[in-house]
Amino acid sequence: MAPQIDRHVHDAVIVGTGFGGMGAAIALRRLGIDDIVMLDRENDLGGTWHVNRYPGLAVDIPSATYSYSFEPNPYWSRLYAPGAELKAYCDHVATKYDLRRHMRFGVIVDGARWDEEERHWVVNLHSAASGGEILTTRYLLTATGFLSQPKMPDIPGIETFDGTVVHTTKWDDDLDLTGRRAAVIGTGATAVQLIPEIAPKLAELTIFQRTAIWVTPKSDGPVPRRLQSLYARIPFTQRLARGVGSGILEVIMVAGVLKYRRFKLFNGIAERVAKRHMARQVRDPETRRKLTPDYSFGCKRPTFSNNYFPTFNQPHVHLETTPIAHIEPDAIVTEDGVRHEIDTLVLATGFNLWDTNFPAIEVIGREGRNLGKWWRENKFQAYEGITMPKFPNFFSLNSPYSYSGLSYFTTIESQMKHMTRLLTAMRRQGADEFEVTEEANAEFLARMKEHLGDSVFALGSCSTARSYYFNQHGEATLLRPTSTIAAFREAARFPISDYALS
Ligand code: NAP
Repeated sequence: MAPQIDRHVHDAVIVGTGFGGMGAAIALRRLGIDDIVMLDRENDLGGTWHVNRYPGLAVDIPSATYSYSFEPNPYWSRLYAPGAELKAYCDHVATKYDLRRHMRFGVIVDGARWDEEERHWVVNLHSAASGGEILTTRYLLTATGFLSQPKMPDIPGIETFDGTVVHTTKWDDDLDLTGRRAAVIGTGATAVQLIPEIAPKLAELTIFQRTAIWVTPKSDGPVPRRLQSLYARIPFTQRLARGVGSGILEVIMVAGVLKYRRFKLFNGIAERVAKRHMARQVRDPETRRKLTPDYSFGCKRPTFSNNYFPTFNQPHVHLETTPIAHIEPDAIVTEDGVRHEIDTLVLATGFNLWDTNFPAIEVIGREGRNLGKWWRENKFQAYEGITMPKFPNFFSLNSPYSYSGLSYFTTIESQMKHMTRLLTAMRRQGADEFEVTEEANAEFLARMKEHLGDSVFALGSCSTARSYYFNQHGEATLLRPTSTIAAFREAARFPISDYALS
């Protein structure tokens, strides 16, 4: 059936209704750009906080910091709020900023192409409700998240498994784990939250660890009602709490990751803190040895937990580090030939970033430049982590070098600032098209590469970390290797001449 064509040229199409997409919509609306369509493949808004519902889900960045600075929530119940509160916060933001009327759910965006003659974007999509469709828009924004394409492990025989299989992004709320013999594959931040929650229900739990993760203590706790009402009555007090949280995260990022050359002592201290934490919590020395990472702190996203390590003291919990050979209908077989019989397989195997998510949809710019191909053939790159040459009127919010700091909100808000500065300058000049220049983009890339030379990625011992900070060519192109203060400063002051406006 031929796709339906909507001939009206919208001001903006935003792909994604998570925090990034909503932040972008708020920035556009503040500029009076209101003809916005927000598309999401899921059936509700919230991105990662809609998709993830696994037991133990919580934020692992302090909530006063992990939220929009212009929309503080005084009522977080804990220092690190549970996942359901984050989803409720997403809903609140969408309602308060009147974003719901822009949103369409259950829509898969197949791709977008710049139409040079008409000078707008043509977006192809489809949905179960209305089949194929074509939208046209002046601005295209992709806010498809970094961790949004679940990774299914390609372990031989996995498709023959006869029991229950669940990926953490597709948690089944009705799944009753009581008395089951389960395996969890993966020991990333998700598994660290999930494992202590499900272990008590299970008869047997085997955790298959390929790469150990650095885990430091989590200073969590309930936020007393009195403090919540103080935050509500005097918002400055919560801003102060946010400032402290952001400051600590900034120190961790700058000292622990970006300026490793000067501060490697910091990484050593962090490693000692994590090892001491484990020594206090895990009784068996052999288990401790297996749980100790063999790469520098910072190469891979570390995490925080007070109840992950003690789980390994429970007699029915087993840590397996022998690589998995294959899966049979009722067992995981490791390379030493041992069959681990299970009836439930939990995949905490994370996300595929570099093969399928950069970009998450096919985007074809000027002169037929295909973004995915261009990134792979010419290095992953994006000016200020947001725009690329030959892609006019396109903001790619989840780009190489865009993730700034540890809280995603620093990335979101610095990008809102960048968009606002650029679109305001365009309005002043009467322009309706922007494209970053090749020179500005090349200069930014060269500068980021130079900064990376001081980082733990270049100087630490990262070869065994299997970190998603590194792309398939072994380059650490995910994080922006500058402080968040520098990122905000550049978003507010970048030379407008870095863009060709017409
Ligand atoms: P992840 O960090 O990528 O971890 C995936 C795990 O699965 C790793 O241990 C990985 O081992 C393992 N794995 C993948 N494929 C495998 C295979 N074929 N065989 C054996 N093991 C395999 O993913 P995640 O735990 O979902 O966390 C992703 C990110 O989400 C975190 O870094 C964090 O940024 C974010 N997160 C945030 C929160 C929060 O704040 N609330 C909570 C959870 C997650 P290898 O390491 O050997 O590849």
